[in-house]
Amino acid sequence: MSLPKNDFITYTLQLPVSKKEIRFRPFLVKEQRNLMVAMESDDDETIERNIKQVLTNCTLTDIDIDKLPMADVEFYFINLRARSVNEIVENLYQCKNQNLPEEKLKATDSEGNKICGGIMKVEFNLLEVKVDINENIKDIIKLTDTLSMKLRSPDFAVVQRASKYTNDTDKAFDMIVDCIEYIAEGEEIHYAKEHTPKELMEFIETLNQNQFEKVEEFFMNLPKVSKKLTMQCGKCGLDHAIEVEGLENFFG
Ligand SMILES: [Zn+2]
Repeated sequence: MSLPKNDFITYTLQLPVSKKEIRFRPFLVKEQRNLMVAMESDDDETIERNIKQVLTNCTLTDIDIDKLPMADVEFYFINLRARSVNEIVENLYQCKNQNLPEEKLKATDSEGNKICGGIMKVEFNLLEVKVDINENIKDIIKLTDTLSMKLRSPDFAVVQRASKYTNDTDKAFDMIVDCIEYIAEGEEIHYAKEHTPKELMEFIETLNQNQFEKVEEFFMNLPKVSKKLTMQCGKCGLDHAIEVEGLENFFG
């Protein structure tokens, strides 16, 4: 006789950037184990490959995870983790207060400064994590009076490709090239897909400092998952406000 079938509950979620609605099931024990092994490896490529695998397995809607904006992928993963394991997470933070009498500075930070060192335990609900979208950031970057460039937010595929670089500058340049939609010269539009990555890279390398800063500003203001936490140090009484960002910082 065959074993009974184990049905699972499904959930729906609207992704905040792409506005797509997805239906998903929680991840299974074996999927969770693979994820934990990946997270412990501390290797971006391994972590992203496993996240993609789990998201693909759990998604019941026909959707290409690689084409979702990175903030949607992070938001989805946090919600999936909340529904699969526990929506409440408990993180520990260390008080970095330096303005205390010498005898109360019990610890040392990574730069060698004497700090309070009090440990603060904070619980928060993963389902309350939001995506910050900066509406003031323009995706068309004006380079000169006649030259402009349209950028798009990096999708998950772009982020996965970029994580193979160990050098931050190489990573940044590669990501910019991947995210160019077109370059406009007066009325004439040069679409990125009609040019080779090498040609696009050569164009990026001709930007001056001021132009490059405008491009960087776009990438620094991409939508991102964040959660504001407030806490008080039990040792010195200092109030803290911490903004949690980046997937790895949400889970202890
Ligand atoms: Zn303290």
